[in-house]
Amino acid sequence: MLCATPSYALHLAEEGNAMGIDIKALKLRVGIFGAEPWTDAIRDDIEKAFGITALDLFGLSEVIGPGMAMECLEGRHGMHIFEDHFIVETIDPQTGDVLPEGAEGELVFTTLTKEANPLVRYRTGDISRLITEPCRCGRTHIKMERVLKRSDDMLIIRGVNVFPSQIEAILVEIEGLEPNYQVIIDKAGALDVLDLQVEVNDKIFSDSGSIKQLQKIEQRIVKDMRDYLGVSARVKLVQPNTLKKTDAKIIDKRRI
Ligand SMILES: [Zn+2]
Repeated sequence: MLCATPSYALHLAEEGNAMGIDIKALKLRVGIFGAEPWTDAIRDDIEKAFGITALDLFGLSEVIGPGMAMECLEGRHGMHIFEDHFIVETIDPQTGDVLPEGAEGELVFTTLTKEANPLVRYRTGDISRLITEPCRCGRTHIKMERVLKRSDDMLIIRGVNVFPSQIEAILVEIEGLEPNYQVIIDKAGALDVLDLQVEVNDKIFSDSGSIKQLQKIEQRIVKDMRDYLGVSARVKLVQPNTLKKTDAKIIDKRRI
């Protein structure tokens, strides 16, 4: 059994092949993948690379992490939500109105068995659709479609949830920076990479002998992004007024 983000699984396959390991000869039979958006094309790639059956998994860090819903081996169309532990609804993200089962909307979860940190009608920000048709596996738990959209601006980078406002909060705490920044997210092989460009202020820019100071700022940003958000960033400081006010702050070049 292999459990990973889909992109990390593909990365493992690539690295394994590069090291001369026969990935298909491993005794893996099933893989469970989630924590980032993926498609059936990626599922095919993983299944071919490892010679396994790849199943989709859903979970929220705020609830229990992975394992709130999962595909069955027989159905493989939608993930069964563990309704003995969660009540699920879909709502209109604008009005908050509950939608009929089967309509696309924001998933809302209520926990039934959590004791330490129960959640009542917790809005996930994840847009999906509930599938009420009976599953060929015989389970009666309702199913949900794979989440490919959000109702907010949350980014998922290597399975880690990041809001642009969190990046901003880090940058404003660091002296010498302007609030102007641009994040570019792309893929390097199977894995996400995050490039962050940030403008320095005039004072830092005109300071003589400031190379060391610039390096210190750069390292501080990299460290804070890692420590507070759990994300590796490639940081580049740029001159004041390099980034236009009209430029998008977040550019996501990944294709899913
Ligand atoms: Zn099923």
